[in-house]
Amino acid sequence: MMLNRTNHESVISVFRCGVQGVFSREQTVSEFLDHAEHVRRGIIWAGRWQTRHLLGALKSILAPSVATAVGTPALTARIADIFCDADRLRDTSCSSPLNCVDRPMIGSSRTAHFPGIQFVFLDRDGVINRKAPDGAYVSRWNDFHTLPNVESAIAALNRSGKRIVVITNQRGIALGRYSRADVDSLHAGLQEHLAQYGAHIDAFYVCPHDREQCDCRKPKTGLLEQAFRDFPQITAANSILIGDSLSDIQAAHRFGIPSILIVHSPQSVSSDAKKAASSATAVVSSLFEAVETCLF
Ligand SMILES: [Mg+2]
Ligand SMILES: [Zn+2]
Repeated sequence: MMLNRTNHESVISVFRCGVQGVFSREQTVSEFLDHAEHVRRGIIWAGRWQTRHLLGALKSILAPSVATAVGTPALTARIADIFCDADRLRDTSCSSPLNCVDRPMIGSSRTAHFPGIQFVFLDRDGVINRKAPDGAYVSRWNDFHTLPNVESAIAALNRSGKRIVVITNQRGIALGRYSRADVDSLHAGLQEHLAQYGAHIDAFYVCPHDREQCDCRKPKTGLLEQAFRDFPQITAANSILIGDSLSDIQAAHRFGIPSILIVHSPQSVSSDAKKAASSATAVVSSLFEAVETCLF
């Protein structure tokens, strides 16, 4: 299969464990695939032209877990992102199309593969559901909006026998904005919702305290310690934490377990976000991506 050599959108990058292959306009698809035989799983983006032509070829080189995602909403969403990049590329006067297209993902994504994980700790707000704006709290099921493909990511973890443990700071309880019972009923609502997807969470650990009042509010490690007491099979070697805040990554780091940071908008990076990204073991853009690229 030949690509249109004059098309500026003829750029494909395949990521696997931080290894990037760039498909240049001077290569054929098969030349690229031969060159990139080390690429077993990854994230693909392409311009409009290739998207249609490449899906079949990509299925043959990707890990089964990723190949099955080809054509699913998750990948379609990613390809939609790619279209944005291609559109941006067309609108800029940049003389280096490859760099223009690649920069957004290189800045935000740094994957790794974690074999032997049995326990996956998840932060809640910003990982499972859309975070409330600063100063606001999600306390009722009606205000709880799951992020894209979270249900299928959790179901995939369940199917593979991994335990999923949510650890969440809920300072709103200490501030009197809602009660522990409200949090429990919200979590019951979440479990009911997940059940429709064949998914469930194995345990929830909640810190109800205000800042500096306890040993369990992340970045402190009390919630992890509780889970380690309750699940005797957990070890530092078989667990991982996925979060979207510096406090999540710091808790994992202090406790000696690897962490995956979810970054929703790489354009707006605060200093805390930069610190989180540099201390996390891997950085991805969603729970779904974390599960697909790092845990399978
Ligand atoms: Mg969070
Ligand atoms: Zn606490």
